[in-house]
Amino acid sequence: MTRRYFIAGNWKMHNNTTETKELLTAMKQNFQNINDSEVMVAPSFTSLQTAKEILEGTQIIIASQDCHSEDKGAFTSAVSCPQLKEFVSHVILGHSERRSVFGDTDIVINKKLKATLAHQLVPVLCIGETLQERESNKTLEILKAQLDGGLAGFEEKDLETLIIAYEPVWAIGTGKTASPQQAQETHEQVRKHLADMYSQEFADKTRILYGGSVKPENVDELMGQTDIDGALVGGKSLEAESFLRIINFKK
Ligand code: PEP
Repeated sequence: MTRRYFIAGNWKMHNNTTETKELLTAMKQNFQNINDSEVMVAPSFTSLQTAKEILEGTQIIIASQDCHSEDKGAFTSAVSCPQLKEFVSHVILGHSERRSVFGDTDIVINKKLKATLAHQLVPVLCIGETLQERESNKTLEILKAQLDGGLAGFEEKDLETLIIAYEPVWAIGTGKTASPQQAQETHEQVRKHLADMYSQEFADKTRILYGGSVKPENVDELMGQTDIDGALVGGKSLEAESFLRIINFKK
């Protein structure tokens, strides 16, 4: 089964509206997509309107980096899916920084996933193990628990749009990348678990992105792995030239 590549930029807490305008204008002007990948950017909430204006008429998808699970209410500072829907079509959920800094548990992420799907937004669900977990051979156990918890209560038919991002925590923002072989092996195990949870057909069609210090120098080899269907890029998505090179990876 062919899975369309998906290259995503997670801007984290970077870029005001002027910087957003500059970065997206540079990207748009030089945008080519030789791999015909789907391309997504996830700016901060404050830059979503600017991103929407600049990317109007392009194929570039806009995502938010998180959402709240409720539609509205007394949740100071939070942003709901109905509010986000004015700007975005996709939502990143369960990023490791959301898990470790803001305390998002699998139960919270599961509720957010429910809200995302209820509002026809496409979820990009992040999973990943810490260095300590990898070193104590717990990688698979952790990933399975994150998938089981995050996807609890959903049937295969609910998850047609789901995108998974495997991001080893020890590789995020550290400059350390999982080797292509390490990443491939883990992606294969994640896909196998999706098959066990749902069906082989579901596992075969679900895209699994790799994230963790993806850069122009390592993207080609990573994207060449059978079970890697794209990338979630942090640091290098803030540089137009680097991100464009990543989008145009060579297999
Ligand atoms: C991320 O933010 O999801 C990420 C993978 O960051 P970086 O590419 O900087 O490691």
